[in-house]
Amino acid sequence: MTTELFNAKTQKENGTQYAGRVIRAGGLVAFPTETVYGLGANGLDGEAVKRIFEAKGRPSDNPLILHVAKKSDVKDLWAHVPNEAKRLMDAFWPGPLTLIFLKSGIVPDEVTAGLGTVAVRMPEHKTALALIRAAGVPIAAPSANISGRPSPTCAEHVLADMDGRIDVILDGGPCEVGVESTVLTLVGRPTILRPGGITREMLEQVIGEVDVSPAVLRPLKEGEAAPSPGMKHRHYAPDARVVVASGSWRKAASIICREYEIEEAMGSRCIILGTEQTRSCYHGMNYDIIGDRDDPATLCAELFSALRRWSGKVDVIFAEAIETEGRGLAYMNRLLRASGFTVLDE
Ligand code: AMP
Ligand code: MG
Repeated sequence: MTTELFNAKTQKENGTQYAGRVIRAGGLVAFPTETVYGLGANGLDGEAVKRIFEAKGRPSDNPLILHVAKKSDVKDLWAHVPNEAKRLMDAFWPGPLTLIFLKSGIVPDEVTAGLGTVAVRMPEHKTALALIRAAGVPIAAPSANISGRPSPTCAEHVLADMDGRIDVILDGGPCEVGVESTVLTLVGRPTILRPGGITREMLEQVIGEVDVSPAVLRPLKEGEAAPSPGMKHRHYAPDARVVVASGSWRKAASIICREYEIEEAMGSRCIILGTEQTRSCYHGMNYDIIGDRDDPATLCAELFSALRRWSGKVDVIFAEAIETEGRGLAYMNRLLRASGFTVLDE
């Protein structure tokens, strides 16, 4: 299969209209959103949705998110629309918040991996919204990477993973948020299953107390049921070991310097994903400053891109842990998963 690439700015009308027809005909289109690039198919067509799983090598038990272009579309996809969902949609849609509730009869089992619930979101990105409107159906879309690898935050990342496996890529430049949407279930107590751009603090201002699934910051225990199927699978892993150093910035930097020397002495090639605060600590070592510890949004925007930049080029990637407040929770969730929960704290 040849993958066609369209520039979403210069070929705006042609690109999205054509891609909308491809989706309606059962094909696969990668498209930009404010979070990461998505790999879309007609969300009401089970056969088309199956192709997403094939192209990504995604485990078939991991359900997809349906993307809509207007809030009222959730009425068709859910059994009914709970009050909390209405308030959250008014506050945060379009935006990086996915809501899970009981599904309606029109949602195929391929989307939900057989679950009785379905995840829905309205993205805040002109090209994504134009594509959903052109397709005229909700678009089922996970991140547009080979399963297990870091999510793509620009069209080049999508091309590296998906060339020859999908029909179309719409290139809309780099993604702003850089990590996937917050996933909140409204079945039972509102619980964050995956942290993202809309923070726990922001959600609590609208609907009161929100739980965070404990598996967001630690691996599942032996025999523990996964609150979300995605938690069972290895994620975001580059082709290199990722090691996280915890503690204050001073502490984290000193752990990294010590371990770097040991690794280097053993012949490993190393890179440090540093921050503005720790730049001066890594003098004479290989480092890549990816953002500001006091502004976790900057780290979220760069993390996946940095993991891909160094993947296969080094043996070890060192990174600093940060506080888990605000977007820091999303950053630490992705970083810990990328490291397979390899944390040094002394
Ligand atoms: P991705 O498609 O890569 O953005 O991943 C979507 C995430 O949402 C995965 O972690 C899924 O396991 C999770 N998810 C999607 N639908 C549901 C659902 N109905 N119940 C629980 N988790 C879900
Ligand atoms: Mg993904």
